[in-house]
Amino acid sequence: MVSNIIHLSKPIIWQEEIDAVIEVMKSWNIIQWPEVEKLEKSFCDITWCKYAVAMNSGTAVLHAALYWLNIWKWDEVICPPFTFVATANAILMAWAKPVFCDIDEKDYTIDPQYIERAITPNTKAILAVSLYWQPFKYNEIKKISDKYNLKIIEDGAQSIWASYNNMPSGWLGDAGTFSLYATKNIHCAEWGVMVTDNEECYLKARMLRHHGQSEERYIYYDLWYNYRLTDIHAAIANIQVKRLDKINELRIRNAEIYDTWLKNLKWLIIPYRHEANKHVYHQYTIRITEECSINREEFAKVLENNNIWYGIYYPNPLHLHYHFINLWYKEWDFLVSERLAKEVISLPVGPHVTEENIHFITDVIKEHVQ
Ligand SMILES: *Cc1c(COP(=O)(O)O)cnc(C)c1O
Repeated sequence: MVSNIIHLSKPIIWQEEIDAVIEVMKSWNIIQWPEVEKLEKSFCDITWCKYAVAMNSGTAVLHAALYWLNIWKWDEVICPPFTFVATANAILMAWAKPVFCDIDEKDYTIDPQYIERAITPNTKAILAVSLYWQPFKYNEIKKISDKYNLKIIEDGAQSIWASYNNMPSGWLGDAGTFSLYATKNIHCAEWGVMVTDNEECYLKARMLRHHGQSEERYIYYDLWYNYRLTDIHAAIANIQVKRLDKINELRIRNAEIYDTWLKNLKWLIIPYRHEANKHVYHQYTIRITEECSINREEFAKVLENNNIWYGIYYPNPLHLHYHFINLWYKEWDFLVSERLAKEVISLPVGPHVTEENIHFITDVIKEHVQ
């Protein structure tokens, strides 16, 4: 039987988003930013942060957060190697050095046990990633950062609306960053926002996203990029923010159905969930272990043959990419990340996925794999 394609992720754009864009276009104020400011306000509400500054991508705000928390040349920033490349690229963009620390095999976030060993007199910050949805281990990392006087930045690109012990993602560090790229839980094509309680960081970010211009027009404070964005994008996101609860509830429901059907398969590991955290399942990522009758690539083929789209996030840990190998990293430096890169596979979990879809997917898995 050939089924219809079940997409891994699908941007949700309804008539309401289309109408909102048309409104902005008709107003002729396509760059005037009332929509941007409204969206920044919403992110303050979602994350409890005092300030939010929007820019044109998740990478832009990561770069900005590092720069405006005064990370600079020769500084070292600790981050995990198992994440999207933008996390560590942003550190290089700020002229600092990424120092990788392996992740916890259970929840895939940076493992605090390795951090202290990696600290040197040059260490200035920990850039923790809340991967797939799971907030990083805030309590343990906060203890280390207090002891060594380090900044914490949270890359929350995949964890909008998630929380750690009732504290929202974004609020956990000195600054948090989010992306609203087309595949994220809410999206508007391209967009990023930094949230912070640090007034200096906020004021500089707000001032400088426009070519480093100071409060005074055509007076430049610093060398900086064009990280502006448009009201056209923000108008889409303002509609999506209203649906944040609904979208995430559907993801959680879908993940729970998967859990029910997959948890008894011995050769497969389902996502771990800390009970005290609120999860938003940016990805539903399982692991195909050595006990499985087929390897991850063959497993992927089974899905493909049944029109089920999947994702591999991420097939190579960052320390094995050539621009990080240049920092003297090599294979076997981070064994957990390297093993997970061979085992992980993400199944469709977004709001476009129905209960029937999941029954179909889990039936395919059970039928073809032991
Ligand atoms: C998507 C993502 C980013 C980058 O966001 P862009 O908007 O694509 O620049 C950074 N970190 C993580 C973990 C991401 O998933």
